[in-house]
Amino acid sequence: MSPLTSKIPIAGRASFEEVKEIFSAHLEAHHLRRTPERYAILEEIYSRSDHFDAEALYIHMKNSNYRVSRATVYNTLELLVSCDLITKHQFGKNLTQYEKSHGFKQHDHLICVDCGKVIEFCDPRIQQIKTTMGDLLNFKVLYHDLNLYGRCKGGCVK
Ligand SMILES: [Zn+2]
Ligand SMILES: [Zn+2]
Repeated sequence: MSPLTSKIPIAGRASFEEVKEIFSAHLEAHHLRRTPERYAILEEIYSRSDHFDAEALYIHMKNSNYRVSRATVYNTLELLVSCDLITKHQFGKNLTQYEKSHGFKQHDHLICVDCGKVIEFCDPRIQQIKTTMGDLLNFKVLYHDLNLYGRCKGGCVK
């Protein structure tokens, strides 16, 4: 089995409707308003397949003529993290990035320390390590975070 390096949806991946329902239920459960801005942010995130930071998302939405405030973007991102629709990554000291997570396969990251490029990979051996170490040390592994840092070979491409 060779490691795969693209964002591969799992079989039977969720439709955007399903994602919206999860978000609606979360907002309702926490007595938060279901505003069009929050759904527009969710839709924007689910229409892209990269890793992004909050500021870039805000600027992108502003440039696409969405009337959202910076505070709404930041606050909605936190809400989406808390209902597991997006994952928050800390790539190095000053690089916090997000990506959609619902219906997408578990994967890990390679991060370039020069240009910040993020490459995804998926290697089944990591699952094996989790199972083996869990069994060996009598520990139930819930999740993991694996980031490999380095440099783009042959120079960074902007
Ligand atoms: Zn990723
Ligand atoms: Zn690079």
